[in-house]
Amino acid sequence: MDQKHVVGELDLDQTLFAEDQIVGRLREMAAEIETDYDGKDILLVGVLKGAVMVMADLARSLNRHVEMDWMAVSSYGSGTTSSGVVRILKDLDTDLTGRHVIIVEDIIDTGLTLSWLVTNLKSRGPASVEIATLLRKPDALEMVVDVKYVGFDIPNAFVVGYGLDYNEKYRNLRCIGTLAPHVYS
Ligand code: 5GP
Repeated sequence: MDQKHVVGELDLDQTLFAEDQIVGRLREMAAEIETDYDGKDILLVGVLKGAVMVMADLARSLNRHVEMDWMAVSSYGSGTTSSGVVRILKDLDTDLTGRHVIIVEDIIDTGLTLSWLVTNLKSRGPASVEIATLLRKPDALEMVVDVKYVGFDIPNAFVVGYGLDYNEKYRNLRCIGTLAPHVYS
């Protein structure tokens, strides 16, 4: 859906990125990945549910074969702040031994979820583990984990759309926008 279909048009404060900007940036990231992984098999690991749209467009922008697998972890509940508690809700089907893994994320906020995930995946014997995220918030810059591919650095606001939800809504919004505080306060 487009912004005009959002019921209660005051829900979205501001559009941060239109669909074509997002897809364009993902194409650039895909080109970087192609160069970096020349001659290597890639396993893209998407983090459900937020990374579904990023995975779909990033994977289709890669002009080469890739495998995809999915994990579901919980860290947020239905609020808007990270709890730091991570639980595996769905694990990978793929054996990571010797694989070149790229974790595909929608957004990194505190980075707590991702630090945990990287440690977890590295313990499974992969050849390499890197991270590709569409969005990164300022707090993530303090993270010890290196993020190799970043779409956009954004300010510290709660954003929705393009896979990102608030209480399971807005995931199918084509653009990414900031949610008006009155929606979640
Ligand atoms: P972190 O552990 O990095 O603080 O949080 C990561 C997860 O929190 C993301 O994968 C995402 O599910 C959720 N999250 C963080 N910031 C936002 C945001 O601005 N909007 C939405 N919808 N989810 C967010």
